[in-house]
Amino acid sequence: MLVYADNASTTQLDKRVYAAMAPYYTDIYGNASSLHVMGRKALAAADEARSEIARCINATASDIYFTSGGTESDNWAITGVARALKDKGRHIITTAIEHPAVLNTCKDLESEGWDITYLTVDSDGLIDLAELERSVRDDTVLISIMWANNEIGSIMPIYQIGRIARERGIYFHTDAVQAAGCLAIDVERCNIDLLSLSGHKLYGPKGIGILYKRRGVKCLPYMKGGEQERGQRAGTLNTPAIVGMGKAMELACSSMQEDSSHVRSLRNYFITRVLAEIPDVVYNGPKDDELRLCGNANFTFNDIKGEALLARLDMAGICASSGSACSSGTTEPSHVLLAIGATEDAALSTLRFSWGKYNTIAEVDYTVDKLKEISSELRSATTLFKQFHGDDKYV
Ligand SMILES: *Cc1c(COP(=O)(O)O)cnc(C)c1O
Repeated sequence: MLVYADNASTTQLDKRVYAAMAPYYTDIYGNASSLHVMGRKALAAADEARSEIARCINATASDIYFTSGGTESDNWAITGVARALKDKGRHIITTAIEHPAVLNTCKDLESEGWDITYLTVDSDGLIDLAELERSVRDDTVLISIMWANNEIGSIMPIYQIGRIARERGIYFHTDAVQAAGCLAIDVERCNIDLLSLSGHKLYGPKGIGILYKRRGVKCLPYMKGGEQERGQRAGTLNTPAIVGMGKAMELACSSMQEDSSHVRSLRNYFITRVLAEIPDVVYNGPKDDELRLCGNANFTFNDIKGEALLARLDMAGICASSGSACSSGTTEPSHVLLAIGATEDAALSTLRFSWGKYNTIAEVDYTVDKLKEISSELRSATTLFKQFHGDDKYV
């Protein structure tokens, strides 16, 4: 059996999305900037996708810009606003648990003289709104806070953050990559000025994302080149991927209730079984369904090395993740787990399982059975090792 429980890293392309994209690779291959019929057809398809996406997030189509993915959208939003408003102020507020696309962009700006406040989070990975209000200064130009966290699934109080930002006259950017498909997104109601989305996290293609940028928001163009995307983001439109992104958003919006309740019930069943049947496991992140992404489960398996467990699960055909995909391959503890108060040891004993719409109850059962078996084997091996070599030699 192959169990794909890593949907927060990427998702399987929905076959309906693939079918919608295919003609734009083979038959309707025009450049959307060309004036002839082939170009006009490509442009019409891109604009239809743009309208569909706008409808899904309650935005105006002309405020949607296509990018190469969530990473580019985050980079664009933050550097674009920072550079456009550099004479007004150089202070940005974000959180300690953002995706590296946000954190590393902020680090870059920091090295160029910007001042960044990284809000702390509580043990559930949620910010304190009072701390946010206290952090706002006269020179604050941007608040960038993710809608939902990719590692522990915590859902930030976006509506309240938007209200604070609007009252203080500060732009609000949110990385909504993980929220899309699980939560309703309304940029008007939440007073969002800039918002990032990615295609491949919602059963769409990789290499495509959007930046929603409210009309009038001061944010410099990111890519320089031709006049595509109203002069804001140069480069030939990736029409097939754009069509795929539009279809993926349409499907995500129309079946959000069904999909998220299926995913949530699998996830809750998984948690119940793991906590009941495997000793010494800690469930990280919010316990309340309202405060957590529907597919996310994050566990610390005390006294087990996360990487070892992950490798054994992989051999059993189960795809999970240690920390975030972006930091795997290194043994650095996750910045998100450290921020919610985990020790380095605990962080390195932690795995994320992210369930998606194609998973089944049989897959969850298989995963729990394997987890039980493997964790008990790994723990016996550790105990033996310690008997022979002493506690301190176990590293
Ligand atoms: C995956 C992810 C990104 C990056 O999106 P890409 O399209 O892969 O560049 C950004 N933010 C969050 C929260 C993510 O989960």
